[in-house]
Amino acid sequence: MMEKIMTNRLDRGFYQYQQEFEDKAIEVLRSGWYVLGKEVAAFEEEFAAYTGAKYSIGVGNGLDALYLAFRVLGIGAGDEVIVQGNTYIASVMGITMNGATPVFAEPDDYYSIDVSEIEKKITDKTKAILVVHLYGQATPMDEICALCKKYNLRLVEDCAQSHGAFYNGKMTGTFGDIGCFSFYPSKNLGAFGDGGAIVTDDESLAKDVKVYRNYGSEKRYYNKVVGVNSRLDELQAGLLRVRLAHMEELTKERQQIGARYLQEIQNPAIRLPLLREGCNHVWHQFVIRCERREALIANLEEKGIGTIIHYPIPPHLSEAYGYLGFQEGDFPRTERLAKEVLSIPMYTGMTEEEQSRVIGALNDFC
Ligand SMILES: *Cc1c(COP(=O)(O)O)cnc(C)c1O
Repeated sequence: MMEKIMTNRLDRGFYQYQQEFEDKAIEVLRSGWYVLGKEVAAFEEEFAAYTGAKYSIGVGNGLDALYLAFRVLGIGAGDEVIVQGNTYIASVMGITMNGATPVFAEPDDYYSIDVSEIEKKITDKTKAILVVHLYGQATPMDEICALCKKYNLRLVEDCAQSHGAFYNGKMTGTFGDIGCFSFYPSKNLGAFGDGGAIVTDDESLAKDVKVYRNYGSEKRYYNKVVGVNSRLDELQAGLLRVRLAHMEELTKERQQIGARYLQEIQNPAIRLPLLREGCNHVWHQFVIRCERREALIANLEEKGIGTIIHYPIPPHLSEAYGYLGFQEGDFPRTERLAKEVLSIPMYTGMTEEEQSRVIGALNDFC
C-alpha cells in the first residue's frame, strides 16, 4: 500500500531545516525571555526588509492583524469595506469585529477581486478596500490604487497567503496603508503555532498597532487606549527568523511544483489556475476547478491522494453572517467557485515521485 499523499505536510517543512529550528528553539528556551524581546524585534526588522515596507509589527495571528489594521485606521460602525466574496472568512471577520460592514464584490477568472466590480460598490459610507491576494497570486493593484486615490479610500491587503508574491516588482502588502500577514503553520512563511504581523510605511500607524497589541500601553502600566493582548512570542519569532532566511528557496520550490503541475496536468475535465501577467504566484495553494468535483475527490481518495476545498461556503452564505441577510444567488460567480474549486497537494519537501502520482491521478480521471 503506497503512502497517502496529503494536501500539506508540515513535518516535511520542519525536517528541511531541522537543526536550525532545534538550535533556535533551545536558544530561546534558555534565554529566560519569552514575550516581546529581541527575537520579535529582530524578526520585525527582517520581515520589514523582506517586504520592502518601512515598519513591521508582530501580532498574535492573521485575524488580529486584520482586526488591528481597521482598528488603527479608525474604521468601525457605519463604515463599509469592499472585499471579494470568495475569501477565507477571517478576511471578513477582521472587518466585522470592528463593527464595520463588509460589501462583497465578485471575483474574476484569476480568483482575484474583479476590479471592474469595485466602483459600482462605492457609496458615501465606503471607507476602505480590502484586497486578498488569494492562493498566493498577487492581485493587479494599479487600478485599485487609483480608485482609492480618486475616492479617498483606505487600502488594506490581506497577505495571509501571499508571502513573497510581487505585483510589477513590488511586494504584496506594500501597496496600501497596511499589509496583514498570518504565520499560521500552513502558510508559506509558517510558524510552529500562531503568529501574524502588519507592515506599513506609516510611522504613526505602526506606533498605534504597537500600542494596541499590548493592552494599549506604550509604557508599562500606563494605558493610553483600550487595546488587546495580541503579541508574537519569542519562540515563534525566533523560528520564523530561521524560515524567513530560506524564503527565497522555499518560494522557488513551490514555483517549481506549480510549473510542473501547469505543464503536465492535462485533462479537459479540469481547469487549471490562470497566471496573470505582472502578478507572480507563490502557490500557497494550487487550486483547480472541476464541475464534477465530488466524483474527482472520491476518485483521488481511492488513489491515496488527499484534496481540500478552499472554501466550500462563501462568507456571505455562512451561518455566522446570516444577519447580513444574503441569499443563495446573490453572488453567482463566488458561489460557483465554492462549488468547483479544489486544492491539490502542494508543500515544500514534496518529492518528485509524489508530484508524479498527483499528476498521473488527475490525468486518469474521466
Ligand atoms: C489564514 C488566513 C487568515 C487568518 O490568519 P490566522 O493566522 O489563521 O488568524 C486571514 N486571511 C486569509 C486569506 C487567510 O488565508
